[in-house]
Amino acid sequence: MFERAHAVFPDGTTRVTIERDPVPRYIARAEGAYLTDVDGRRFLDLNLNFTTLIHGHGFEPVRAAVESQMRNGTCFANPTEAEVELASLLCTRVPRLERIRFVNTGTEAVMFAIKAARAFTGRSRIAKIEGAYHGAYDWVEVAQASVPDNWGPPDRPAGTPYYRGMPASVLDDVVVLRFNDPAGARQLLSRHGSDIAAVLIDPMPSRAGLIAPAPEFVSALQEMAREHGILIISDEVLNFRQDYRGAAARYGLQPDLFALGKIIGGGFPIGAIGGLGDVMSVFDGSRGRPLLPQGGTFSANPISMVAGHAAMEALDQIAFARLERLGDGLRSRLVDAIARANAPLSITGAASLFRLHPKPTPPREFREAHLSPAEAKVMKEMSRFFAANGIILPVGAAACLSTSMGEAEVDAIADALETFLAENSALLEEIS
Ligand code: PMP
Repeated sequence: MFERAHAVFPDGTTRVTIERDPVPRYIARAEGAYLTDVDGRRFLDLNLNFTTLIHGHGFEPVRAAVESQMRNGTCFANPTEAEVELASLLCTRVPRLERIRFVNTGTEAVMFAIKAARAFTGRSRIAKIEGAYHGAYDWVEVAQASVPDNWGPPDRPAGTPYYRGMPASVLDDVVVLRFNDPAGARQLLSRHGSDIAAVLIDPMPSRAGLIAPAPEFVSALQEMAREHGILIISDEVLNFRQDYRGAAARYGLQPDLFALGKIIGGGFPIGAIGGLGDVMSVFDGSRGRPLLPQGGTFSANPISMVAGHAAMEALDQIAFARLERLGDGLRSRLVDAIARANAPLSITGAASLFRLHPKPTPPREFREAHLSPAEAKVMKEMSRFFAANGIILPVGAAACLSTSMGEAEVDAIADALETFLAENSALLEEIS
């Protein structure tokens, strides 16, 4: 298949994020917590399409809702009841999510949240976190892939380009902040604050380390935003799965705008922009052309709406509490295994998310999470070992649990790490 794929895709894949070691795993089918590849091998899936499938694969209520909607039509140039239902569910749960608009991907949600902040403030620059991933809109790609050679001094993180030919004007429009550096954020936002429309923040940026935000960092952003009239955009495309009320509420952040995606579509394409009513009024076209026109052929398509509603309805407070306990249990099992093996590893994450680091103490921000070649080798071997033992473990970003998992899956993950550590002491010695 990979050979055939090379005839039609530039590198044999159609997403840069597809892992190949040396070839990608082509999936034949999936059910609950498990995937089966085309060679008939079965894997516990800790990727879940980049954390999207919070109920695992083939969740029955989603399947039923989608099958029923298929019979009634898949997309129309008209609104449906389904979009009102999903929007109402989300706005009822999430503080400060007063109004919402649906789109098709997280990228699009982030893009429109930034445009909304620009339209509301009349300013065009944004601030974002070094190393944080927010999708494929040019402005949020700045400093997404910084490395020690180009990331600049700690108090002035460089706005590094993401691709050759990225416009210099885009780089000029972005102020880069370091995660969990309240003094740095205060300094940079005081200097540039009057030009900045929004601070874009993922409360626990997965590719920057999946690290919890320090309360002092959250309050520094909040204070600077208030002082300089900057909006706060909480990108919860991934971290919305942390809490019934979303990630901002969990960490005491008070966003003006949200970008959502992934779990709220129940496994179908989705994104959403939401926030305070006065800010969201930039989308209001009831009195003529809105400040920010926003459309989209497949936006709010009823398949994604009904799938998302079925998934989110099943994700009640009890389901979130269970996921939280499962995640806490797993993280403590992994911490114990690491301590018993006296291995130079640590773990970050919260709720149903976790990430292993080849570092003796948990990193506090992106630069500390950056891997040396020897550390990268350890993580590659770990992911190979897990795959050989029937577990797909993402290592460069968040791994996740789903409601379809239980103690048996937690045991399998903890046992795999324990055996990996026992069998790889020479490799681990290289990073000690
Ligand atoms: N923001 C964050 C925090 C994300 O994790 C992602 C996707 N991994 C995106 C935005 C982009 O979402 P999508 O892939 O649906 O465009």
